[in-house]
Amino acid sequence: MSCKQQLVILGATGSIGLSTLDVVARNQEQFCVFALTAGKNAKKMAQLCVAHRPRFAVMADEHAAQQLIQYLSGSESKTIVLSGIAAMSELAAHPDVDAVMSAIVGAAGLIPTLSAVEAGKKVLLANKESLVMSGQLFIDKVKQHKATLLPIDSEHNAIFQCLPSALQGSKTNTQLHEHGVSKILLTGSGGPFLTRDIDTLNTVTVQEAVTHPNWSMGQKISVDSATMMNKGLEFIEAKWLFNCQATDIEVVIHPQSIIHSMVQYQDGSVLAQMGNPDMRTPIAHALAYPQRIDAGVTPLDFSQLADFTFTKPDFTRYPNLQLAIAACNTGQGATTTVNAANEVAVNAFLQGMIGFTDIYRINAQTLEATVDVNVHTLDEILECDRLARLQATQLIAKVVR
Ligand code: NAD
Ligand code: MG
Repeated sequence: MSCKQQLVILGATGSIGLSTLDVVARNQEQFCVFALTAGKNAKKMAQLCVAHRPRFAVMADEHAAQQLIQYLSGSESKTIVLSGIAAMSELAAHPDVDAVMSAIVGAAGLIPTLSAVEAGKKVLLANKESLVMSGQLFIDKVKQHKATLLPIDSEHNAIFQCLPSALQGSKTNTQLHEHGVSKILLTGSGGPFLTRDIDTLNTVTVQEAVTHPNWSMGQKISVDSATMMNKGLEFIEAKWLFNCQATDIEVVIHPQSIIHSMVQYQDGSVLAQMGNPDMRTPIAHALAYPQRIDAGVTPLDFSQLADFTFTKPDFTRYPNLQLAIAACNTGQGATTTVNAANEVAVNAFLQGMIGFTDIYRINAQTLEATVDVNVHTLDEILECDRLARLQATQLIAKVVR
């Protein structure tokens, strides 16, 4: 076989997973699929197994794995079906694997992603929550095991592309300033409620919150974009990926989502990465790095573009953004806590248990209630995550709608 890179896609049935498979299908001479993993959607996974013929497919639990086996029974598929996070982790570290796309949503992605890092793989990181949860531990492991960490989040991929090559890939301990960088400009669209009357935010429906003006994404990140907690998580993600301080990062609202982020240099230069808002661009960039491949993305036509506008974020509209930046300054215990609380709160909002503005309340109160403990080892991180989820769940139970 002429396959060059063997891929594991964690979260294959999701928005990022499917975009990754689309790019892979366009570049079959360079990539092939070793394993696909997913949560519960066995029907979708069966279609992917038939189309992409992975050696392994892993579902989150045994019930979903049995369903997948049923769906595949009438087909010619030779895919071996497994279940559980341990099997996902084992395949992410398999000696035949070159690269792992980390695209599970939320904290569930941490263990298999760390497994890929510990096996020294090329890790394509979409699952920002795992880095927010484990920060220093994650980056230390990347260095220790000589993994290659490539950001998929469009902003971080843009920043990566605009940085000098010496700073790309979390390999060194050098600071941005030593390479003439003065600031990272992290852009965000402001989501669907950029101009909505703030007093009506408490009546936002799930449908309104998950309808992003520029990007098509999974439900959790869509809600995070509406509250701008997503930008807060990305702020923390940028701090770890680019070895910088919170004061080196500035959030800029750019509603058109054409500039995906920028790097400002001491000589006054600002480098921006632009493109249509389509995740296949950062995915293709990271898959092929340092080469370039076709991503199927419509080229940018400047004659068709509307105005580019830029503003500062308003923290009264986006209190979750301010909360996450404050947590970034406080330290690991706070970022692990805010990430866990937010995951629980967003899930409760999606299920109609709490209102949109309750998400902030749950996040802030969980942070307040958490004693600032030392959070360094994996056990400490997982315990901090567990306690924050418990706290957030108890607070949600008190919210009367
Ligand atoms: P999604 O909800 O569309 O897909 C999530 C995937 O994870 C699915 O395959 C699902 O089956 C799997 N999954 C969910 N729970 C699981 C569990 N407990 N165990 C194993 N697998 C599980 O989400 P998405 O939009 O593709 O986002 C994935 C990740 O990428 C998130 O961390 C998100 O923040 C990040 N990201 C997404 C985008 C985007 O455009 N969608 C952009 C930047 C970053
Ligand atoms: Mg992003």
